[in-house]
Amino acid sequence: MSNKTQEILDIYKASLMPTYAPSVVLASGKGVTVRDVDNRPFYDFTSGIGVQSVGYSHPKVVKAIQEQAAAMTHSSNLFVNEPATRLAAKLVELSGLGGKVFFCNSGAEANEAAIKLARKWGSANGGRYEVVTFRQGFHGRTLATVAATAQAWCQEGFDPLPVGFAYADYNDIESVKAAINDKTVAVMLEAVQGEGGVTPATEEFINGVRALCDEKNLIMIVDEVQAGMGRTGTWFAWQGYDVKPDLFTCAKALAGGLPMGALVSNAKFADVLVAPSHASTFGGNPVAAAAALAVIDVIESEGLLAKAVEMGTLLREALQGFVDKYDKILEVRGKGLMLGLVVDADAKEVVEALQAQGLLALTAGPHVVRFLPPLVLKESDLEEAVDMISDALDCMFGE
Ligand SMILES: *Cc1c(COP(=O)(O)O)cnc(C)c1O
Repeated sequence: MSNKTQEILDIYKASLMPTYAPSVVLASGKGVTVRDVDNRPFYDFTSGIGVQSVGYSHPKVVKAIQEQAAAMTHSSNLFVNEPATRLAAKLVELSGLGGKVFFCNSGAEANEAAIKLARKWGSANGGRYEVVTFRQGFHGRTLATVAATAQAWCQEGFDPLPVGFAYADYNDIESVKAAINDKTVAVMLEAVQGEGGVTPATEEFINGVRALCDEKNLIMIVDEVQAGMGRTGTWFAWQGYDVKPDLFTCAKALAGGLPMGALVSNAKFADVLVAPSHASTFGGNPVAAAAALAVIDVIESEGLLAKAVEMGTLLREALQGFVDKYDKILEVRGKGLMLGLVVDADAKEVVEALQAQGLLALTAGPHVVRFLPPLVLKESDLEEAVDMISDALDCMFGE
């Protein structure tokens, strides 16, 4: 470890609350590659946890940020700003839901807005407030979204959590039926569970959730924070199915690396959150919105939805090769460029072995290695990355 890395890590350990335990100090990025403070390159198959979908420092995103920063970085929502206004219209258009948008600053905050909207509507529609969410789901780290996240590691020690959540089993429609009662107002799910293990919803399940919501007059909320913005090959992962949610949330990849969240509704729920019921000082920040417009432009002009499918297929095939080769590698799952490799080993150790080869990856629970590469991945990058994965797996699982 260089002196520079050591120096920064020492300050980090002394000064930051230990909510993470990183060991690499990153300084810059271009495309799918990031560099540490000693200029050592890594392929970033985390995309900064699903954020840098158009790659690091895409010139169009950089230009949009620079120009908007020079013009005005913030105005508050007491006034209109053009980038956020145009972005809202664009998100509504891409969604095809014909509704409206509320902007905030993170995924958790977007989910909070969805939960608040559901409660607001439920309070006027039968006094209902309970939201059904799913085991192995993930919705964020605020108190309400922690209560919505039915995973012990996320909830332990934070009691009392907000009430009003009931848990069901993902891909098990009978368990959803069992969780619904006369207080239920909404069902909230990821179309592909990210943190919980990279598990896509089955057609049957997501159709079943939609049918149940229609039958019981419930709001169907899809959390697109990780799977959205093209990662699975459609703008929003729910568009890969034959369903339309009432509400969905976006964040991670929305604004090309700047913090931004959005709640998008259909027409029915477009005017539930009215002043002064909900707000955000920074929501719809013009610099973030300008970056998001540039991200959408890049996804469209570079054909990145199709690329997510094409590169996702190649990566999946390569990973399947490792499943066939090693007994300890059990399964590949996911969609597009949101892929998980299920291992009969500690996923964290696999991620460390990959990092030693120069490839950054994520875990998704104790036994899943998660790959979320930028959608701008080229075939040559993919081949090099697959060689690194091959070497790392051979080190760990080879004869
Ligand atoms: C990351 C994530 C969140 C939380 O987003 P933050 O921006 O970290 O608050 C919520 N839902 C899903 C599906 C996520 O992957």
